[in-house]
Amino acid sequence: MRIKMGTVILLLFFLLILISSCNKAPQAHTEIIFGTVCSINLFKKGTEKRYQELFARLNELDQILSANRDDSTIAKINAAAGLHPVHAGKEIIEILSSALFYAEKSEGLFNPAIGPLVRLWNIGNENARVPEPAAITQALLLVDWKSIHIDSENETVFLEKPGMLLDLGAIAKGYAANEVASMIRSWGISRGIIDLGGNIVTLGNKEKGTPWHIGIRNPELSGGNSIISLYASDVSMVTSGINERFFIENQKRYHHILDPKTGYPAENDLLSVSVISPDSMEADALSTTLFLLGREKSITFLAAFPGVEAVFIDKTRAVHVTNGLFGSLKIRDSSFYLYP
Ligand code: ADP
Ligand code: MG
Repeated sequence: MRIKMGTVILLLFFLLILISSCNKAPQAHTEIIFGTVCSINLFKKGTEKRYQELFARLNELDQILSANRDDSTIAKINAAAGLHPVHAGKEIIEILSSALFYAEKSEGLFNPAIGPLVRLWNIGNENARVPEPAAITQALLLVDWKSIHIDSENETVFLEKPGMLLDLGAIAKGYAANEVASMIRSWGISRGIIDLGGNIVTLGNKEKGTPWHIGIRNPELSGGNSIISLYASDVSMVTSGINERFFIENQKRYHHILDPKTGYPAENDLLSVSVISPDSMEADALSTTLFLLGREKSITFLAAFPGVEAVFIDKTRAVHVTNGLFGSLKIRDSSFYLYP
């Protein structure tokens, strides 16, 4: 049998395409949702249909939970403040109940009624500026989590004072991450990575059975490189810091985690706090709470949360970790150091 040279070349060409498509690493699927970059990677189990279902759910949650869109359920609850209860649905009831739990535990530092203050500061938008002290005092009167009323049976929420505004920005992505993680598990898939703008959930282990490495970004930079890596299987890690949303006025930096006691961005020696917990909503709520508490108070506070670990990076570039993390973390940038 005689084979023509042209045929051989053609066959080789197809073989090459076949090999390269087999070797292609499975890509994460990425979309902008919750005002941030959200990506999910199911590796070999990542089909178009599965990603579509997961991202449809994330978009649906944004539609319900966003404090920034006029048509969200949260916006409807806010518009009815001082007037009447609004049907909120099971998601908001669950998230808000949890938010009120953290509000109570932190004596109102974590505060889902923070909306009027967030709106006043407008951090993350171009025209952000330091508000007048009188306006801050005015807004603080409405930052009152005890005036949020939940009726779980009828799934309604009522904000007692006119002008009150809910803002679930410090906890909603954690809920969403739990939600997609449980969808994935319900499909019998046990390996994957979910990253909703830094709200990370690792499912299972890497293919060879070793744990995932997850990174903490340089908290001095926006979108900086990962400077710490941690070994993690089936946990969530969520970071709150001074560098994701902020503005600078008169050489002073104003970031987006607001202290409901003062009305100003929380001031302490921290650059960031990362919380590790099996539950992403807990990690999300706690990362914001611990940032507000500061490191020393956080350690006492965490005694009530067994199984939760934290990494605090302070302005001297010292990295403080809770006991359970010693030995499972690596600092990759020598300008940061592990506090003894
Ligand atoms: P990120 O949104 O970057 O993931 P966080 O989870 O720490 O960071 O949430 C910060 C957001 O939470 C703010 O942008 C604001 O919407 C809201 N927020 C600010 N201060 C508080 C507070 N004291 N309690 C609850 N939520 C807050
Ligand atoms: Mg948070």
